[in-house]
Amino acid sequence: RLITFEGVDGCGKSTQLKLAAQWLQARGEEVVTTFEPGDTSLGKEIRKLLLTGEFVPVPEAELLLFLADRAQHVCEVIQPALASGAWVLCDRYSDSTLAYQLAARKLGARTVNIIEMLTFAECRVIPAMTLWFDVPVSVAAERMKKRMQAGEKSTRLDDEAISFHERVAAAFTSQFEKDDGRIVRIDASLNIEGVQAEVESALQKRFS
Ligand code: C5P
Repeated sequence: RLITFEGVDGCGKSTQLKLAAQWLQARGEEVVTTFEPGDTSLGKEIRKLLLTGEFVPVPEAELLLFLADRAQHVCEVIQPALASGAWVLCDRYSDSTLAYQLAARKLGARTVNIIEMLTFAECRVIPAMTLWFDVPVSVAAERMKKRMQAGEKSTRLDDEAISFHERVAAAFTSQFEKDDGRIVRIDASLNIEGVQAEVESALQKRFS
């Protein structure tokens, strides 16, 4: 009953997560929505360390901070919610770590050790389904620009090179290609209603 929402910055996953939660709730389901990094009190501090720009962790430290956030999040939020019988919709999970830290930050040379650490941090909680919001980086960057102009959200897209996000996007694509059926590709270049329809049909197909 854990569903993770994944994709590059600006892919629209957070908006769709809210809509998916409403869709499930309308069917009488109990739903907990959550996100990474930062949805515990420890996680909030970790998010600050990672994303305010005050600190610049080396890629190794960055990975460990994301994993510390995950372990805390799984034990404190996700596991109890699953145990209560709720659906848990989580904005980012291990696929983001693989895409951002392993692929884009180029820690992949030590993949075997890192996959073990990733599994360790998950505390045996594996998503039942992952929705991957696939969108060209150029479209995502355009959306982020608009959001920033509206003063809504700052993102790494303003200070990371587009090539970094291209590596993230390529990694999500290859994770999908290697996957055994957990990951569902959603065409996130459609408008909000179009993407929403794809998400609802994926949920319907998998869980009805
Ligand atoms: O999904 P959200 O926008 O909240 O993510 C916050 C930031 O953290 C994003 O800019 C994303 O690129 C970054 N991030 C990352 N590595 C992860 C997860 C998120 O660099 N594993």
